[in-house]
Amino acid sequence: MPQGYILTKSKYIRGLQCDRALWLDVFNPKLARYSAEQMRRFDQGREFEYSFKATFPDGVDISAQLKRDTGAYPVLTAQLLDTHDTVDLFEAGFLYNDVLVLADVVHRRPDGSLDIYEVKSGSTLSDTYRRDAALQHYVISHCRQINTFNIVHKARTAPVDSPDSSSSPFSTIDLTADLQAAHTEIEHHIAVMKDILTHGEPATPTGQHCLTPYPCPYQHYCAQGIRQMSLF
Ligand code: SF4
Repeated sequence: MPQGYILTKSKYIRGLQCDRALWLDVFNPKLARYSAEQMRRFDQGREFEYSFKATFPDGVDISAQLKRDTGAYPVLTAQLLDTHDTVDLFEAGFLYNDVLVLADVVHRRPDGSLDIYEVKSGSTLSDTYRRDAALQHYVISHCRQINTFNIVHKARTAPVDSPDSSSSPFSTIDLTADLQAAHTEIEHHIAVMKDILTHGEPATPTGQHCLTPYPCPYQHYCAQGIRQMSLF
């Protein structure tokens, strides 16, 4: 387990899907297997994220400086936010309650408050995006004052001959007013997940939850267990 934090956003989302998947993500992530289709979607998501970040030409990319030293992200983020009147940061790190989150784009306003942009490559606002955003809001709001929290997703493509055909490829939804309400529930989930990680691997059986909201990358591993049990 990395120093300084126990959970990340992706582990939290994994834990909401399955306690066993969370445990494997923390203690045996090498078992994960992603399909070619999943890898293609990850790549598409990254490309869309880069294209949004390009709209902040002076943005400082914390991941470019610290690479995989994720435990150090919150320290550098705090230094940069505290020494600039305004600044745009990519992959800004925030840590609260043993949860580390990295925000895609953070803009510090002159009054010190933050505009947060989370970039999602889908064209609709799914429940998973909302849960993901709610965790980010929970952590960041305990570290800094948030002015707005926005989800940026793909704008629906307008027909070429429509007046909107030259409009932005990005659609922004301000979720600031909605996210605070989820904090109590998030705190409960975090406590449950921390407890799971103090025990051995859960024996959770496979089922429908292995496929939604994402196909679990440990399906081959859990299926092996089932095959061994049926041999007995
Ligand atoms: S395959 Fe299913 S049971 Fe196994 S870790 Fe993934 S979600 Fe959990």
